Amino acid sequence: MTTQTITAAVTRNAPRRRGMCPGVLAPMEVGDGLLVRVRVPAGVLPAASAKRISELGRRYGNGLIDLSHRGNLQLRGVRPEDMAALIEELRPLGYISADAESEAVRNVMTSPTAGLDAEAVLDVRPHALALDARLASDRELHQLPPKFGWLVDGGGRAPLFDSSTDVRFDAVMTEDGPRFRVGLGGTLEGAAVLGSCRPEELVEVAVAVARAFLGLRETLVEPPRRMAGLVKTVGVEAIRERVGAHCPHPSHASHGSLPSPARQGREFFGVQASWLGVAFPFGRLDCDRLEALANLTHEIRITPWRALLLAGAGEDAAATAKSLGGILDRDDVRLKVTACSGVTGCDVGTTDTHADGLAIAERAPGLLRRVRMVHVSGCAKGCAHPGAADVTLTAREGVYDVALNAAPGAAPWRSGLTPDEAVDAVAGLSVEELSRV
Ligand code: SF4
Repeated sequence: MTTQTITAAVTRNAPRRRGMCPGVLAPMEVGDGLLVRVRVPAGVLPAASAKRISELGRRYGNGLIDLSHRGNLQLRGVRPEDMAALIEELRPLGYISADAESEAVRNVMTSPTAGLDAEAVLDVRPHALALDARLASDRELHQLPPKFGWLVDGGGRAPLFDSSTDVRFDAVMTEDGPRFRVGLGGTLEGAAVLGSCRPEELVEVAVAVARAFLGLRETLVEPPRRMAGLVKTVGVEAIRERVGAHCPHPSHASHGSLPSPARQGREFFGVQASWLGVAFPFGRLDCDRLEALANLTHEIRITPWRALLLAGAGEDAAATAKSLGGILDRDDVRLKVTACSGVTGCDVGTTDTHADGLAIAERAPGLLRRVRMVHVSGCAKGCAHPGAADVTLTAREGVYDVALNAAPGAAPWRSGLTPDEAVDAVAGLSVEELSRV
């Protein structure tokens, strides 16, 4: 593709507005420039590619990188006039799709420990990569709504049970060998079970499910945009009928047993048998740090919990990652605070959400140890976590409304607090007070 053709493609795919699903061919306009989401197939990023992306992020962007909840890398602050050059330089790495439509549907979350975890049911990388390739090449599937997602989980020590998606394939071991349990809409626990399939059948089952979704939507006056909505509207039986023989009904197939809920704890962070797990507050790092981490391994995996896995890295690498500001302890309270980019990266934001989130981690470690999440949101949109958190701070015009057990924008427990007052309020909150709401 010539530079002229690339420029034409970028112009045709004008930058998307906030709330859409960005990509490289359809970057999104945010406060600090264009946000460019690089979809890394199966989340497997060779160290050489990570170094190259770091170089490009420094040259064409503002040097900041976000890790997304879907296991992708996002370059920030890219200048519109540099997009064509960035695309041209990313293309040899294999991360550029044929067009924005085929890029938008490539949303496949994959076990980041695939091939590295002896306790996993199977190495899911080939199946996830095959699904990614089929989504990109099959024009019929490009009609799937933006954000429609897939998940391929091999189980083991760091499973994706808590990650929510539209269609999930969770590996289980049965007396007949490994199978995928096919779930529709939600986390492992919340998804409706469609049936099961052999690993080599995954792609065809996925295509049949996608066709069933698209076909059933057409019959509805108000077609849901996500699988959970379709299951709620028509029921799982109607979807199963359309999928037909591609996916045996649960009563006709041995499902094996899923690991017990007690195994859902993420045995991922720090030095593990064959990897090092490292996170950065709010999934934010920069190109220099990514490059330094790439120097510690031959391969990085991007996880759906906004952390990185360094394959084969051990104690020495852990010391370096820590010196770079990495979080290696799964009990680090900063992992309990989530925040969008706020005023530093979004034109709607009016507060420094990251600074305020870190202040809460510093001032309220006891509370954070006992709750699931504190969310600092730059506005009621709640990009980082639209759902409810134990404590949610929602900014408006430089002040915060603080709500308990609620989503961004919900009726506040305290309102109109300056950032310092809001941090004080959260630091003074007891779990007992929280449980009374
Ligand atoms: S939630 Fe945060 S990132 Fe999303 S629009 Fe509001 S300020 Fe911007």
